[in-house]
Amino acid sequence: MSEKVITRALVARSVDYGEADRILTLLTEDGGKVSALARSARRSRKRFGAALSLFVLGRAELGSPRRGSDLRPLARFDPITDLAGVIGADLGKMTHGSYVLELARDLWPSEESDPALFHLVMETLGAIAEVPPSPRLLRCFELRLLAAIGLAPSFDQCVRCGEGIPGASGTVGMLGFSATSGGAICAACGPHGWPLAEDVWREARILGALRPREAASEASERTTALELRELCRLVLRHHLGRELKAWQFLAQLTGGGR
Ligand SMILES: [Zn+2]
Repeated sequence: MSEKVITRALVARSVDYGEADRILTLLTEDGGKVSALARSARRSRKRFGAALSLFVLGRAELGSPRRGSDLRPLARFDPITDLAGVIGADLGKMTHGSYVLELARDLWPSEESDPALFHLVMETLGAIAEVPPSPRLLRCFELRLLAAIGLAPSFDQCVRCGEGIPGASGTVGMLGFSATSGGAICAACGPHGWPLAEDVWREARILGALRPREAASEASERTTALELRELCRLVLRHHLGRELKAWQFLAQLTGGGR
């Protein structure tokens, strides 16, 4: 994507640059994740108004990047929907919403167009704005995000022997899980890896197929919720190669719970 582009875009990061400019990370519908330079964004409010804030969806006009740079000049940004007001007014929503932006930013390959991923992020933020903060919604987002970028852990097939889970006998048995191998390990191959309880295995399969709003309509049983959170982090840590600060903060928010 080297030519100019006009696309719907969500502001996922906004950092002051120099005396008057701003550097943005935009998650766009047609151009993937884009780094953009908004010149004079802080000096002239006429140009972009207050639109260049986190959680604002707008119609962006992006120029071609200069040679040797991946920054695209932002020519215009017309806001369409502003979720910042609703999300920003509640600490829980703000924490969950910021986490969604951070994960999407970090895992989305640069400038790789993926409208389905864009819609998943928008749908998730819409649900966060609408309902009370839900850890189950975040698990659904994590699993669906991983699937959207081709990194979904395998829950239906053993990553060691390739047999279906549950096997021919219909019983699930004692499963293991390995983030490095990419999924569940069946009882016949086990015990191997991180112990994966049947309830957690079941919940992961359910959440991977739900829409974010549906996931928020109920809560997981507490132990299942904690173990599934840990499983998702094993996978995310493996792909990101690091811890996210947000994880600690999210745990504090729910009193060390889900
Ligand atoms: Zn196996």
